[in-house]
Parts: sequence; C-alpha cells; structure tokens
Amino acid sequence: MTQPSTASPSIIDPFGRMVEYLRVSVTDRCDFRCVYCMAEDMTFLPKKELLTLEELERLCAVFVEKGVRKLRLTGGEPLVRRGVMGLIRNLGKMLDGGGLDELTLTTNGSQLARYSGELVDAGVRRINVSIDTLDEEKFARITRWGRLPQVMAGLESARKAGLAIKINAVALKGVNEHEIEDMMKWAHGQGFDFTLIETMPLGEIDEDRTDQYLPLSTVRSRLEEKYSLLDIPYKTGGPARYVKVSETGGRLGFITPMTHNFCESCNRVRLTCTGTLYMCLGQDDAADLRAPLRQSEANDLVSQAIDEAIARKPKGHDFIIGRDSTPSVSRHMSTTGG
Ligand code: SAM
Ligand code: SF4
Repeated sequence: MTQPSTASPSIIDPFGRMVEYLRVSVTDRCDFRCVYCMAEDMTFLPKKELLTLEELERLCAVFVEKGVRKLRLTGGEPLVRRGVMGLIRNLGKMLDGGGLDELTLTTNGSQLARYSGELVDAGVRRINVSIDTLDEEKFARITRWGRLPQVMAGLESARKAGLAIKINAVALKGVNEHEIEDMMKWAHGQGFDFTLIETMPLGEIDEDRTDQYLPLSTVRSRLEEKYSLLDIPYKTGGPARYVKVSETGGRLGFITPMTHNFCESCNRVRLTCTGTLYMCLGQDDAADLRAPLRQSEANDLVSQAIDEAIARKPKGHDFIIGRDSTPSVSRHMSTTGG
C-alpha cells in the first residue's frame, strides 16, 4: 500500500532549482517617479486590468500550498494601493504553521510612518527601503516627486516598531557615486544592512542608461582601498552577495545582474498585479494566471498553469546596456516588481 507523502510540497524548475520565493507587485502605481525606474509621464494600467486584493491573496495562497515559503510585496509602491494592509494581514495568517516562513516588503518608505505598527502586527519582521542619497535636494531630483524627510520619518517609525531594515541603493554614475561610502557608514551606524544594486535596462525612461550605469565591481574596488570587506555566506533568499565591513561591523550587499550573473541560484518568480507570472526578471516570457483563476472557483486550473509556467523558467537573463538605448526588456521594473 502506498503511504501518503509527508514531504513538504515543492516547485522545482527544469534546471533543478527550487522555487521558494514569490515576489508580488501589488500595484504598478507609485508616489515617486525615480529617474532610472519610470518616465515622468508614466501611463499606468487601467484599474479594470488589476486583480482584486482577494484575487491576489488567492493566488499567493495557491503558490504557498505548492511550496513557496517566502513572499515579498513590491510594486510600484506597495503601500499606496488602497486596502493593501488587509491583504498583508491575511497573508500574515499563513505565517504561523500555514506554510509561509517569511512575509516582507520592498518600499520607498513614504508611507511607513503610517503603517509600520500594522506591518509588525501582521507578522512582517524585515523590510527593504530604497534610498539612493542622503542629500535632500539630490533625493528630490532622483525621485522627482519624493521628499527625504518623509522617508526618514518613516524609517524612524519602522525602527521603533521593531522592523529589521535593509537600505537598498541603486548605484548611479555621477549621481550618488561619491556618496556611497557615507551612505554605508550612515546605514551601518543606524544598525541597517546596506545593499547596492546595478541599474538594469528595464523599460523606456527619459534618460540614457549608459550614462547611469556604474558597475559595482568599480564601487567595491574603491571601497576596498579604505575598508576590509570580508565575504560572508549570509543569505536573505534574494540575489545579493554579502560582505562584512570590518571597520563598521555592518553588512554590505551587492546585487550585480550586469557584472556578475546570479541566475544559477535563482529561486524566485514574479507575479504582477494583473496576474501575469514572469519566470525571469530579465526575459519577456510570461504566463497569464488571471484567466485560469477566474475560470473556476477551484484552484486546479491555476495550479496547472503555474506548473506549465515553471516548466518554462529560463536558465537566466542576458542584460546589456549599450549605446543604442533600447531596453533589454520593454516593461518597467515597476510592472514586474523589483
Ligand atoms: N517602490 C518600491 C521601492 O522603490 O522600493 C518597490 C518597487 S521598486 C521597482 C524596487 C527596487 O527596484 C528599488 O530598490 C528600486 O531602486 C529598484 N529599481 C527600479 N528600477 C530599477 C532599474 N532599472 N535597475 C535597477 N534597480 C531598479
Ligand atoms: Fe516608485 Fe520604487 Fe520605481 Fe522609485 S523605484 S519610481 S519608488 S517603484
């Protein structure tokens, strides 16, 4: 007689990688217009295209049942979607024995003063906050619509609420290039992890990406002239590689899609707010989960669509930033979710 399996469910792709991590872009809208992410006059998706929050929750639940153990909500700006706290609270219920190990969020910090306490109550323990400069005037220039004091107030409330914080900064040539050391010292002084990201060629923006691109190999060599960077095996489930900075005692992460391809250990897929599943941030292939979700109240069809999509997960991406200024992938980071 066959015994029922007691092994945890798992999603395995054709290259043997276990897909345990789902990033969910809950909205493509944002209260900022960062120069490397969006054009100033962005056209957003019509509201009728969006999944309801209940549908997003149902899809997340199917992924968790199938073996996803970590959810990260992102966007656009996840905290500007109306009613998002209800979704976060419901997802948080899957944390205690419901199959989910971690529920996190990537945010620009603008709404944290309002939501930090509720996030903790819902079970969120760690958040990523994107800040590219500590200079107020430069911050306004990079984000176009953002204000640094509002984000700093948000960070303070997140800290008071007990959230662990990682600061993410996109390295931008000639913009924050010479501020990176100060930002690292500030973040580590506050007890925050600090991670640098290379700009990726996603979506049309108003500027030339070749002018923005700063390889992190250059940043690392410069830091190494003054600091001892010790490679450490620390992992958060994402693509960052970490070093410990002896002089500050803090952790510094590098996300290097351009200079060092990290696809071999990719454990994630991305779901957009319209129910499109992208198996790779850097490829156009996608699967529609909205139709099978709406076709039946049972989850069999959508579960099958997920299996078919995972079977097509590509080996990796192939980003190139060149003078012809055509993005490698036409959709913006705010669509797929960073
Ligand atoms: N609005 C939230 C935020 O800014 O944290 C979440 C979404 S945002 C798209 C997620 C991350 O992607 C941010 O850290 C942002 O700096 C980064 N990002 C956006 N466009 C990018 C690009 N073209 N290349 C690299 N990183 C990018
Ligand atoms: Fe908005 Fe985040 Fe994109 Fe900036 S990086 S425009 S905050 S989605």
